[in-house]
Amino acid sequence: MTSMFFSALLAALAAPNVVVISVDTLRADHMGVYGFAHNTTPHLDQLAATSLLFEDALCEQPQTGPSLMAMFSSRLPRVTGAIRNGVPLPPTTPTAAMVFQDAGYDTAAIVSNWNLKVKLSGLDRGFAHYDADFGKRWWGRERHEMTADVVTDRALAWLEARDEEKPFFFWVHYMDPHAPYKNKRGFAEQLHGGNRVKKQRIDSPEARYQTEIAFADQQIARLLAALPKEDTYILFTADHGESLGNHNYWGHTRYIYQNSMHIPLFISGPGIEAGRSAAPVRGIDIAPTLLGLAGLSPLPTMTGMNLMEQQPAADAVRVVETYGGSVPKGENVREALATRPPRRQAIIQSGWKFIRNEEGSRELYHLTEDPGEEHNLIDSQVERANALEAQLETWHQQTPRNQASANDLSEEDLRMLEAQGYL
Ligand SMILES: [Zn+2]
Repeated sequence: MTSMFFSALLAALAAPNVVVISVDTLRADHMGVYGFAHNTTPHLDQLAATSLLFEDALCEQPQTGPSLMAMFSSRLPRVTGAIRNGVPLPPTTPTAAMVFQDAGYDTAAIVSNWNLKVKLSGLDRGFAHYDADFGKRWWGRERHEMTADVVTDRALAWLEARDEEKPFFFWVHYMDPHAPYKNKRGFAEQLHGGNRVKKQRIDSPEARYQTEIAFADQQIARLLAALPKEDTYILFTADHGESLGNHNYWGHTRYIYQNSMHIPLFISGPGIEAGRSAAPVRGIDIAPTLLGLAGLSPLPTMTGMNLMEQQPAADAVRVVETYGGSVPKGENVREALATRPPRRQAIIQSGWKFIRNEEGSRELYHLTEDPGEEHNLIDSQVERANALEAQLETWHQQTPRNQASANDLSEEDLRMLEAQGYL
């Protein structure tokens, strides 16, 4: 891709449609196009084959709300104060959707995760249509997600009814790979191939997780088929990954290992040549990139890069954090959600990653040789670790930490956060 060609092409397009498709809890390394051995994502792999794909994209935090709020506002969670699920983006922080709306776009979002509900995320601002309605209780249990078939049905209904005179900005968020992992039937052949399937493998949590991805992929294919073939850009990503038993942990939120932080990211559309970039990109780059696809300028508040114009240098520094984990007994939950210090922080540069944990322990990994972060080199690479920690500490001192409020949370919201393991 040459950026001059890309700019000229943008000028020739009136105002292109821009679509964001995101899948909750989708580890990059569980997609074929990122090297996974099982055929989880045939349709997304096909889309990726015509896209500019980023091999090394990280989310800012391994949690739905903070990650997506950072993506759409291009501001770090600690800077907006939106550091946990249930702590919404402050009204003073503008998002990409607001810019699209101001530019005359029709804007819509179909989201399927409880944490994206209006008062928990504040992400509805700028969307003329924001569908986060999961319906009523079902068999006496609260629903906290919509399945991919329902999400696609609603997305298709919106596309059908939209005002065709206007270009549109459309975000569709799928939830299926998030726990609990259910066994979606009909994918054994696709994933494991005919007779070699062993029942034990199909019944494992890992195997069930794979069927949830395959189901989302199948339903996303219906959405892709319904999108206009011309003048439409598609950005595909995930909010975070999943531990899946690595480091003796199954979920996301608690740790900041690559299994939770490495996300898929690829962009297709007019003038974009298929290719792969190894640039160290991040969640906050998404909003300026989306706006750039439509020829719109990023807001002065946005801190990431338009990746179609510019990409970070190979030795660029990234810092990620998590504030997740349980709230100690006796603490006011609403207050603790908004005010807790970071539980873990990591600095990543040129294939090395240093982690500092709340309890004082330190870890160092050579990601290039040890992508699974299994060999902690903290004792053998003391100087390197100290240098990275000094850089992390400088960042920590110099990056302001603001405070948002979780006061709008109802008892039902708190129950839902607890049920999902976020408290
Ligand atoms: Zn999530």
